[in-house]
Amino acid sequence: MAALFRGSRTVLFSWNKHVDSAFGNVSALCTRTMASKTPVGFIGLGNMGTPMAKNLLKNGYPVICTDVFPESCKELQDIGAQVVDTPADVADKADRIITMLPSSPNVIDAYTGNSGILKKVKKGTLLIDSSTIDPYVSKDMAVTAEKMGAVFMDAPVSGGVGAASMAKLTFMVGGPEEEYTAAQELLTCMGANVVYCGQVGSGQAAKICNNMLLAIGMIGTAETMNLGIRLGLDPKLLAQVLNMSSGRCWSSDTYNPVPGVMEGVPSANNYQGGFGTTLMAKDLGFAQSTATSTRSPIPLGSLAHQIFRVMCSRGYANKDFSSVFQFLREEEGQ
Ligand code: NAD
Repeated sequence: MAALFRGSRTVLFSWNKHVDSAFGNVSALCTRTMASKTPVGFIGLGNMGTPMAKNLLKNGYPVICTDVFPESCKELQDIGAQVVDTPADVADKADRIITMLPSSPNVIDAYTGNSGILKKVKKGTLLIDSSTIDPYVSKDMAVTAEKMGAVFMDAPVSGGVGAASMAKLTFMVGGPEEEYTAAQELLTCMGANVVYCGQVGSGQAAKICNNMLLAIGMIGTAETMNLGIRLGLDPKLLAQVLNMSSGRCWSSDTYNPVPGVMEGVPSANNYQGGFGTTLMAKDLGFAQSTATSTRSPIPLGSLAHQIFRVMCSRGYANKDFSSVFQFLREEEGQ
């Protein structure tokens, strides 16, 4: 039994570790007293990280933050966050840290690099990674963090910048169940739904599955709408019919990819904002690699991966992924 301190909270750990997978699935029993509003570290202040960290501030948590581009920290600094130079400096000052980074290499760098979190992490620190990354990297990070006496959890999100701003994200959480309550305390400040998915990496697994289905659904909606238009149907009428029939899906009724069908979606704004094609291609890459390692057939997921990758090389990289409709229309003329 070791008594640790996370902020001003007394943290009592009763370790009962056992490794039951190739990646080291460590479970630890722990009991904590009441949480308090001690500083929370935040690393990665991009499109998502900035509004998420703002919501922690709004909920009364002092925020200590950093980003590889110091100018990304300006908005947070202006509303009271403390900015430091490196992830190691964040770890020196906070014992609950959230990371929101583009992809696996950035997460590896922020945790294990020369100025990474693990250089100065305190025992008992709770590390929550909300980036969408390879679940095997999450598992590796958990094993490495555990060697330093820290706890790593994956908590990727569903919902875009709008949901992040309104604290309406859905968090899919993986890691030791005993730590879930501590993670939940912070995640509920930034999201409307927080779902415990299982051991570390499970949050990423759920996120990857969701995004693969989303990608397939969006391509299906885009090609269906395009065919209907070619057959002479009015796109709004076709969307109305689909949405009252068995072809209905989120991409047809909430995020329709055809300009003019819906207001307030990226297709109504030249595919600006929303969820970038590059990020979707990245997530499908994780679906592809995990499907290979688990020998799961994903013929449609693989095809979706290739389509979004080609789009990235044809000028769609920074457009919302629903621009696959525009991509298919342009392909027709070739
Ligand atoms: P972003 O590129 O806007 O922000 C990432 C930030 O991390 C940048 O400011 C970058 O400078 C910083 N960064 C990179 N490496 C760093 C390092 N080693 N140390 C410190 N800072 C570093 O990305 P985003 O749109 O905020 O997305 C973040 C994550 O959330 C991604 O994994 C993405 O897939 C996921 N996600 C995004 C959306 C969305 O709509 N944008 C939705 C759901 C999930």
